[in-house]
Amino acid sequence: MKKRYRLGFYFFICFLFTLLIIPLIFRLSAFSQKKKVVVNHQIITPYYEKKVFQLPEEIKAKRSQTVSINKKIKIPIIMYHYVDYVKDPNDVIRKSLSVNPIFFEQELKTLKEAGYQTYFVKEIPDILDGKINYSTQSAVLTFDDGYEDFYTVVFPILKKYQMKATVYVIYDFIGRKGFMNEDEIKEVTKSGLVELGSHTLDHLYLKFSSESVARRQIFESKKKLEERFGVEVKTFAYPYGAFSQKTVDLVKEAGYIAAVSVIPSMQQSKDDLFYLGRVRPGIFGGKTIVKVIENYQK
Ligand SMILES: [Zn+2]
Repeated sequence: MKKRYRLGFYFFICFLFTLLIIPLIFRLSAFSQKKKVVVNHQIITPYYEKKVFQLPEEIKAKRSQTVSINKKIKIPIIMYHYVDYVKDPNDVIRKSLSVNPIFFEQELKTLKEAGYQTYFVKEIPDILDGKINYSTQSAVLTFDDGYEDFYTVVFPILKKYQMKATVYVIYDFIGRKGFMNEDEIKEVTKSGLVELGSHTLDHLYLKFSSESVARRQIFESKKKLEERFGVEVKTFAYPYGAFSQKTVDLVKEAGYIAAVSVIPSMQQSKDDLFYLGRVRPGIFGGKTIVKVIENYQK
């Protein structure tokens, strides 16, 4: 090969090599980033600040100045997200948010056999007012985010045991992959076993949102759900459990009658109607659910 051609050949090889190597570098870096973020639920990956597990300081301070005459009643509100088998063992977030369907059915069966009654979150104000007969063998089941498995897994089990649940739907996620669609939500709400609650328009961290943004998320999600599904939406769940006094004020102003937090407690009172305590199913091992509820002290 002549020297001139050889040089051209080498350049050509270098060019080909660059073409191959650059996309490979990009792919590798994208892959390493992807490993940190879980694919399906990355938008609603729960970023729980430690603070969300207790009342915000400003609310605590205000409450310490007043003496409450409202009595506390033990009402276990159980918080579920996914009820599904986790296919990817490395998906830590999904694992922490999931309950195995067999476990879930055991929990409902155990509650039923022990004579437990279930209530909607919207019934809690009346329970606390003494307008609804309430026994110590009662519980409230709540499901956050409106995942598809609420329709495919949870709903058939609720029907089987005739137990009630409140589902908190993210309005703009309706019909997205992995979430319930319009027909499914219509069917569950028509059954009489499911209360439809709001979980904002797109799962914002309301505590850090401006007032106008929070207002829109809280007010519009209620209005849109009511118009689309023809039911009154009376209760609200704070995404990530995060709220401030301002958030609570907006939720009240929008016309909700109660809201659920992620503060771990079973003691509910009229003082806490807008940040009712909930417990995660992680602490309940299927058949031991009744024992766990009975022994829960907080
Ligand atoms: Zn959520």
